[in-house]
Order: sequence, then C-alpha cells, then structure tokens
Amino acid sequence: MSIADNLKQYKSEVESDGVKLIAVSKTQTTEAILEAYSAGQRVFGENHVQEMVDKHSQLPQDIEWHMIGHLQSNKVKYIAPFVNLIHGVDSLKLLQEINKQAAKNKRVIDCLLQVYIADEDTKFGLGHDEIIELLRSDEYAEFKNIRIVGLMAIATNTKNEKQIAIEFHELKVFFDGLKVSFFRKDDHFKALSTGMSSDYKIAIEEGSTMVRIGSAIFGKRITKHFKADVSAN
Ligand SMILES: *Cc1c(COP(=O)(O)O)cnc(C)c1O
Repeated sequence: MSIADNLKQYKSEVESDGVKLIAVSKTQTTEAILEAYSAGQRVFGENHVQEMVDKHSQLPQDIEWHMIGHLQSNKVKYIAPFVNLIHGVDSLKLLQEINKQAAKNKRVIDCLLQVYIADEDTKFGLGHDEIIELLRSDEYAEFKNIRIVGLMAIATNTKNEKQIAIEFHELKVFFDGLKVSFFRKDDHFKALSTGMSSDYKIAIEEGSTMVRIGSAIFGKRITKHFKADVSAN
C-alpha cells in the first residue's frame, strides 16, 4: 500500500466516526508529506520545532501544522507565527510563553492540555489536580492570546487493550467534568486528542475527537531526524 492509499483509508475510516485525522509526519520527507497532501490530507503533526519550521517553509501554505511533541518554552517563538494547535501543553510557564508569543504575532493560539494517564514514568503531562489548579489560577484568567480547546493524552504502551480502554475512558470522564466546571459557556472546548497507530480504534470508542496517526500511514520511521532540503531554499 502506498502512502496515498493508506492516507485515504485511515482518513475515511476515522472521519466516518466524526474524528479528525492528524497525519504524524515527524522524520518523514517533504516528498512523503506531499504524497499525503495530494491524496487530500491538510493536517500534519510534528514533534520537533526546527523540523516543523523547515517543513512549514517548504510545503504548501494551506497545511495545518500541529505541534504534538514536548515543547520547550524557549522555542515557542519559532512556531508562534503559524502553528495551528499545540497538543502537549503541560505547564503554566509554557502556556504563559505561548500567550506572550501569540500576542506578539497578533494571534490567538489554540492549545490542548496534556494529561498524564499512562502507567509509565516516561510520559509528559499533568495530573488531574494540576490541571484544575492551572485553570483556577489568576495567571490563566489573564491570558488573552491562548485558547484551551481540549485535552491530549498518550496511553500506556501495552498490548493490554482493556487497560488502554480504561485509561481513555477515565480521561473522557475527566474531560466531561472540566467541560461542566470550567468551559460550560465555551463552545471551543471540545477536542480530545487521543489515539495513535496502535490504539486509535480504542481511542475513538472512548471518545477521541482527533487521532494522531504516523507509522500506519507513512510506514515505519527509519531516520531519526528529518534533514532540511537546503537546495530548496
Ligand atoms: C509519534 C507520535 C504519534 C504517532 O505515532 P505512530 O505510532 O507512528 O502512529 C502520535 N502522538 C505523538 C505524541 C507522537 O509523538
């Protein structure tokens, strides 16, 4: 199966459930991304700032770029002019910097708070109480240039589908609670970014509204880092 074939299959499958497909293009070449683009995909996810900046400059301008990786505060400025959605916001400090850089660019940047749901030490994210504390803080109330549009999470990397389903289910319950407590009058708070190649079906069953699928579309990632094609500049 080609990238175009994979893309069309996943896109129609998840969109038939009303779910948005983020094609995770980290480490993939611009040619591979263009193949997915030509097959109709406009939303791509990257996890390194420099790589996303390079690809944004080289690829069609109607692509929506989503930052799905861990984002360092000092790098926000590079993506603030164009990023469409930042999935992994996991601190008030980072949110503060996104707000500042968005203001400089006269934009409002959509963000998802990353919730820690996995039974592992290695995943970034906030606990439920930390999220509530953030949403109650005076600092958060002052932010004019960010908009929290939902939550993002990564489930435990396990073959135990029941465990994954429980993690996503508990996240959905938490999400619904936040909606009532903090976003009752805010129609923008509606995104639940969960599910990757291995667990997107479970994620959708448990309320995902956007799935982040990489290897199932593009094939296994071989190179570790995308190299900018300098000849294209
Ligand atoms: C790489 C990555 C994905 C995609 O993973 P696949 O297994 O290739 O589908 C999804 N979400 C995040 C946060 C990632 O870093």
